[in-house]
Amino acid sequence: LFITFEGIDGAGKSTHIPFVVGLLQQAGHKVISTREPGGTKLGEQLRDLLLHQAMHLETEALLMFAARREHIAQVIEPALARGDTVVSDRFTDASFAYQGGGRKLALSKLDALENWVHPHLQPDLTLLFDVPLEVARTRLDAARDPDKFEQEQSNFFADTRAEYLRRAAEFPERFRVINSNRAIADIQHELTQIIASVLAA
Ligand code: C5P
Repeated sequence: LFITFEGIDGAGKSTHIPFVVGLLQQAGHKVISTREPGGTKLGEQLRDLLLHQAMHLETEALLMFAARREHIAQVIEPALARGDTVVSDRFTDASFAYQGGGRKLALSKLDALENWVHPHLQPDLTLLFDVPLEVARTRLDAARDPDKFEQEQSNFFADTRAEYLRRAAEFPERFRVINSNRAIADIQHELTQIIASVLAA
């Protein structure tokens, strides 16, 4: 099982990853919890560059997919082949949302990179944590030490969020959109139901 977590910065996905990992472990799954950009030694080095170094938009997209190629080869595919469950904090939907929606890189270029790097691999379940921009902004303002993406203007996040929602509508079979502007207990209740139904399928 391959499960990805998505959402704009401040949507709260990192709060909910440990909870979902716990649900899966209780159900007897061996869970590999990982993240993008990153997940490997090289990937984490690329992450450091991506988050702190100014660069051309296409360089950014290419490095995201370079990190992803390594992540798939070293972590995701071996784990799935062993029968483990992989939980990844972001995957290719984030490239469409941030580099495509937010930064306006042509989606056809992202399609080409996706077809190159993982023509067949797709998440079984993508949990999209969705909040209004003002809520995300308030949460980010409370966080220290923002990375370069977190300093973007709100139209960037509006466009990023819109592309996430567009993809959720395009791929309804794997996406679940979670209203993240609620009490944590309510979100956990919904996550419990979603995971139970996916495990029963
Ligand atoms: O999920 P996390 O906050 O750790 O992501 C690190 C940063 O990288 C975020 O600010 C996110 O917006 C950005 N990012 C991006 N494009 C991606 C993946 C992540 O701009 N494809």
